[in-house]
Amino acid sequence: MDTMAGTVAIVSGAASPRGIGRATAELLVSRGAKVIIADVLDDLGKALASQLGDNAHFIHLDVTREGDWADLLARASSYFGDPNALVNCAGIDTDGTIESTTLKEYGQVVAVCQTGIWLGIRTLAPALRAAGGGSIVNISSVAGAVGQASLGSYTAAKWAVRGITRQAATELADDNIRVNAVLPGFIDTMMGGKGAGLREKLRSTKSACGASVPMGRVGEASEVAKLIAFLISDESSYCTGADFVVDGGLLAGPLAEAADWS
Ligand code: NAD
Repeated sequence: MDTMAGTVAIVSGAASPRGIGRATAELLVSRGAKVIIADVLDDLGKALASQLGDNAHFIHLDVTREGDWADLLARASSYFGDPNALVNCAGIDTDGTIESTTLKEYGQVVAVCQTGIWLGIRTLAPALRAAGGGSIVNISSVAGAVGQASLGSYTAAKWAVRGITRQAATELADDNIRVNAVLPGFIDTMMGGKGAGLREKLRSTKSACGASVPMGRVGEASEVAKLIAFLISDESSYCTGADFVVDGGLLAGPLAEAADWS
């Protein structure tokens, strides 16, 4: 079912073996879109592009480098024509309190999660305008909606993503370019599943994490990808400048059993 034929999307952070970007690239191609897989992981990116076939192509991109974005736009346009969709999905995180995080660590996360998105919009907006309009989806996080302790600068950067999203939406609406933010909760990916294993943690009802997800499970990358595809498609034609949460109810409030008032 080629419901997204005519879509030419750039997806940053799409090469990770089981990430949200990869799931998005797979879903978009399965719906008939053409996708540029953009990442620092060259071997994995090339392998994914070859797995997805002629409608996918890998281009190296470090989202923190302005020159990489310019090069990506030139090469993507010559490959598939002017892009009309951008998914800013690349991200890194670190652990650490405000006091234990170094200035260097703080800057690294901000560079990828915040400045990288700004550079992407700044570089791609003229191309989307030339294409007659399009859709930009910026991946924030539930950490961009609450204060989440011990995440280094991740919380600050993910809040900033929602600000950039609103500014871009208001600046680009006249050009028929919509810009929205997606706030995933705990998702089973390379980032989300690191350390002791988020899936195992969440299965333990005794853990703080497990007790905080009303639906009682982690999310799958494919569940976030379906929301991203909706925001790229015309199905969301009147949505811009908004936050879309996909978190199993995490931000809705505590579980009934956690909120024991007796
Ligand atoms: P992941 O680690 O599987 O994927 C992140 C991807 O970003 C990787 O492919 C990595 O190579 C790429 N990347 C990192 N630095 C880059 C750079 N400088 N330039 C280009 N690419 C770079 O993690 P994920 O969970 O799929 O994360 C995707 C997005 O979702 C991130 O923005 C993350 O912050 C966000 N998010 C994830 C969760 C979760 O629980 N997994 C929750 C909320 C938000």
